[in-house]
Amino acid sequence: MAAWLAYAITLIITFLAICLLIRLLRRLSGRAAYLPGVRICPRCGSTDISPRSPGSGGASLTGVLPDRYVCNGCGYLDLFPTIGREGVVAFRKEIEKRRKNAR
Ligand SMILES: [Zn+2]
Repeated sequence: MAAWLAYAITLIITFLAICLLIRLLRRLSGRAAYLPGVRICPRCGSTDISPRSPGSGGASLTGVLPDRYVCNGCGYLDLFPTIGREGVVAFRKEIEKRRKNAR
């Protein structure tokens, strides 16, 4: 009986450890994907973005996400996507393409 109980406890502990490990790995991979990212202006493709000063009338409702930025290139003011550094060139090409199509 005691051996059976020990086996069950070991099984549960192993299961919890694996769950914890998966969660940890997910968090690490998520952070790794985020870190080399840059904020880019969806209008002009500039990466010269400044955080909008808090209290300038655009306080977020949640108070958790003050993610409002202003583009120093064209003055675009909204939410900016974050992309990997290697994606900046492709992103600017995409903007250029869209501009040509709009003409
Ligand atoms: Zn811009």
